[in-house]
Amino acid sequence: MSSSASICIFCGARAGKLPVYGQAAAETGQMIADMGWRLVYGAGDIGLMGEVARAAQAAGAETLGVMPTHLVRQEVAKCDLGQLILTETMHERKKVMFMNCDAIVVLPGGGGSLDEFFEVLTWRQLGLHAKPIILLDVAGYWQPLVALLDHVVTEGFADGSMRGFVQVVPDVAALKVALTDGLK
Ligand code: AMP
Repeated sequence: MSSSASICIFCGARAGKLPVYGQAAAETGQMIADMGWRLVYGAGDIGLMGEVARAAQAAGAETLGVMPTHLVRQEVAKCDLGQLILTETMHERKKVMFMNCDAIVVLPGGGGSLDEFFEVLTWRQLGLHAKPIILLDVAGYWQPLVALLDHVVTEGFADGSMRGFVQVVPDVAALKVALTDGLK
């Protein structure tokens, strides 16, 4: 399956403070193309979203972008994607992205990325899917989130199995390995 797999990337519509965030996003796009995978993402040409997409496209990856019509200007919809699906709502966007992917990778991002992460994590907890969910922990960005997930389990608000549904990798080389294993 991995030769034609689709990788959904959730990430910031902003670039963040550190240049390494943008570098990791571009490396991720390049790696997806190198592996012959398709990029599925939020269709924006801004922030880390734009970095991932431009790198993936430049390296020849297939791309699918999904965006609600009301964000087309604000998030600068990338009109040269292989496929661009416009949805009516945010919910529909998440659903279309999810339905069209085999694995989910979360790069540094803000509230939107967290919302998307928690939705796929809770769906996994409920047994609604078995797709890999991977946090790309660029410069330790996701450590506070990992600590929060541990806290939730320690305090008895989630089964310990929840932590097993989330893989945390430090760099794109490790991401490539985790995706290759997870897509088998
Ligand atoms: P952010 O991580 O906040 O920069 O947002 C990343 C992406 O998530 C952007 O394309 C946002 O439009 C999107 N987003 C923001 N809020 C939500 C939400 N409630 N559900 C789904 N996507 C969202």
